[in-house]
Amino acid sequence: MSNFSLPACPADPLLSLIGAFREDARPGKIDLSVGVFRDENGQTPVMHAVKQAEARLVAQQPTKTYLGPLGNVEFTQGVAGMAFGSARARRLAALQTPGGTGALRVAADLLVRNAASRARTGSERHGRIWVGLPTWSNHVPVFAAAGLEIRSYRAIDTETQRFDLDAFGAAMEQADPGDAVLLQGCCHNPTGIDPDDGQWARIAELLRDKDLVPLIDLAYQGLGRGIEEDALAACLLLDTVPDALIAYSCNKNFGLYRERVGALFIQAGDEAARVAASSNAADLVRANYSMPPDHGAAVVATILGDAALASAWYDELEAMRTRLVATRRALADAACAQGLALDSIAHQQGMFAQLALPPEAIADLRENHAIYMAPDGRINLAGLAMSDVERFASALARSFA
Ligand code: PMP
Repeated sequence: MSNFSLPACPADPLLSLIGAFREDARPGKIDLSVGVFRDENGQTPVMHAVKQAEARLVAQQPTKTYLGPLGNVEFTQGVAGMAFGSARARRLAALQTPGGTGALRVAADLLVRNAASRARTGSERHGRIWVGLPTWSNHVPVFAAAGLEIRSYRAIDTETQRFDLDAFGAAMEQADPGDAVLLQGCCHNPTGIDPDDGQWARIAELLRDKDLVPLIDLAYQGLGRGIEEDALAACLLLDTVPDALIAYSCNKNFGLYRERVGALFIQAGDEAARVAASSNAADLVRANYSMPPDHGAAVVATILGDAALASAWYDELEAMRTRLVATRRALADAACAQGLALDSIAHQQGMFAQLALPPEAIADLRENHAIYMAPDGRINLAGLAMSDVERFASALARSFA
């Protein structure tokens, strides 16, 4: 007998796939499911710049005493300066968080607390966030766990394979001033479909005119169009609206995944609001995980603080990005040769694309071709070696048939 009476949670379908792939003995198996970068040999090596920074830290780090809930300031300033430029960075409050997920959670907690404080009649509202679907599978669980009210809308026009600005505008018509709006800053997960420059301009104006607060999730900077280009939408939003939150992840672009490196940046309309928001975020962190882990952020701070290391890191990141772009082009061409209209894949950004395959086709690819993809048809382009592109395209052609 136990005092616990919890029903078991269903297994995470993506994590189950990892196990199934590991146990699959077939030669030539292809894993397109998990969201990590892989090189041509299917490896996710530690970046050279990271190895060098780690060696330096081991040799030189003077102490490991506590840093406090805001974490490593050199790190948050370095990331903000690199991503948004020093003028914008100066306007931002910042805290280091356990990954982009941690940043999203602290942002959600802050929105909930802010809504309670804004409410005129007791806790009339818990705070609301608008989420365009499809989206990363953890967004809704994180926001729901924090107690945010979630409103969803269809963000992607699957017919045209473009961001659906009309659907976005219609959803925003329903939003109340002060509501938060989740936006993926670049390299949309799971579709790879980002708004174009004109659409971003319209999105920013809509948010400004309706007094809405963007929560910008920036988890793939440097893996789409380029390090500067991938931050343009976030910069535009920062320049257009008074209040904004940015959940930043360094886990993909520095290859630090398990080190859990991220940051939450807060822009507020005035200085007093910014200071208050920052102190509330610190207070929420204190009651949650107290303070973030050191190592990964110290690595990033070391890299960004040293011109030679930063340039080595940038070159490695560019090589990763170039591999994704080339794989996209090769897959689109191979699919075209098989009579499939998948050219849009070549024009999308980042690690992911979502294929409109029914569950039976996804199961067929796994069972009969040893090709693994997420249950929603999401594929990680980095999981595809150039030498596997033709085989994948011909297996796809049979599945689409
Ligand atoms: N946002 C998006 C869109 C993601 O895809 C991910 C990682 N898969 C994250 C945030 C969070 O990543 P992490 O917590 O590892 O930094």
